[in-house]
Amino acid sequence: MKTNPDHSLYNNVWVLGETTDGHIADVTLELIGIGRALADKKKSRLACVFCLENRNLVPAELSGSSADIIIVAENDDFKNFCEEEMSQAVHCLIREFRPEIFLSGATSRGRALAPRIAVLAETGLTADCTGLDIDLNSGLLFQTRPAFGGNLIATIKTENARPQMATVRPGVFIKPADVKKTEKEIIIRQFRSACGQGKIIISRSEISAADNRLKDAHFIIAGGRGVKNKEGFDLLKKLADTVGGAVGATRAAVDLGWIPCSHQIGQTGHTVRPRVYIACGISGQVQHIAGIQGASLIIAINKDPEAPLMKMADLACTGDLYDILPELIEKIKNCR
Ligand SMILES: Cc1cc2nc3c(=O)[nH]c(=O)nc-3n(C[C@H](O)[C@H](O)[C@H](O)COP(=O)(O)OP(=O)(O)OC[C@H]3O[C@@H](n4cnc5c(N)ncnc54)[C@H](O)[C@@H]3O)c2cc1C
Repeated sequence: MKTNPDHSLYNNVWVLGETTDGHIADVTLELIGIGRALADKKKSRLACVFCLENRNLVPAELSGSSADIIIVAENDDFKNFCEEEMSQAVHCLIREFRPEIFLSGATSRGRALAPRIAVLAETGLTADCTGLDIDLNSGLLFQTRPAFGGNLIATIKTENARPQMATVRPGVFIKPADVKKTEKEIIIRQFRSACGQGKIIISRSEISAADNRLKDAHFIIAGGRGVKNKEGFDLLKKLADTVGGAVGATRAAVDLGWIPCSHQIGQTGHTVRPRVYIACGISGQVQHIAGIQGASLIIAINKDPEAPLMKMADLACTGDLYDILPELIEKIKNCR
């Protein structure tokens, strides 16, 4: 790590922007929200930086956001996601403008770019932060994240190198409701390096849409090891379809191959904020709880009344999920 650069040369908070189907990604709006709060505490400006094939693709929603500066690294080849060249472009921008803080979503794209950018900038990177704040004494970024398998919450500071870099998973921060609209400064830099040289694309495949369904679902029916087998998740799906919800899972269920990992909720899966979270056959280990703390109402169904999730749930139903779920589905159908 490059130590002790002249810190007075580094200003402003940057968010690495992402788009989905031409629209600003939710995680970017969430990061703009927390980035604004950090920038206000530092009395500095907030920038959102995009790697795009064309400057006209800057998402329109950004004009109504609280970012002060929009920076575009433009390269026709960026239409194909090419992490080496994109991270080099962002690193060039970092060298030119010297941001003090750099935030990225812990998404598949952010996870591909942020570590590369950190290596190029010779700085540290705190991955999967669950809290970010400014230490009013030192002015440093406090980067909070679970450590040692979730048994400890660590607060990390990057004292010497710059920028201070952190990634945050989607859903950890909420999208700001009241947006402080700002005049925008637009900065465009063109990059010409050809992307993907020496690489051959063997196949392309669409990732599961479970990511989006879980993120937006008002009802989540999640299953754990207590579901017993792959077929058991059909019952959870039936309940999810009945209430218009999505199916989630613990890592145990994913590791057993009962459901794809795109459904995993928790420290190493999704962070979700449904109105109702129904946990079926889930014990409630800290790593799972880490992903459901934003749920408005938690209902736990478990044979063991002493399971940790039964203790913390708003409603705890003691019993066999195979007895309770079919009855629940019938009752909901009869109510309509
Ligand atoms: C670094 C690290 C990261 C991790 N990340 C995650 C993560 O992101 N997400 C995650 O979920 N886990 C994660 N884990 C794993 C986590 O520690 C637990 O092992 C896991 O969450 C347990 O899953 P479970 O509740 O399905 O299984 P168990 O703990 O085995 O619980 C099964 C529950 O089902 C109940 N049950 C059994 N049969 C029935 C029935 N017929 N009806 C009703 N109830 C029944 C049992 O009483 C029990 O409470 C992580 C672990 C580590 C070390």
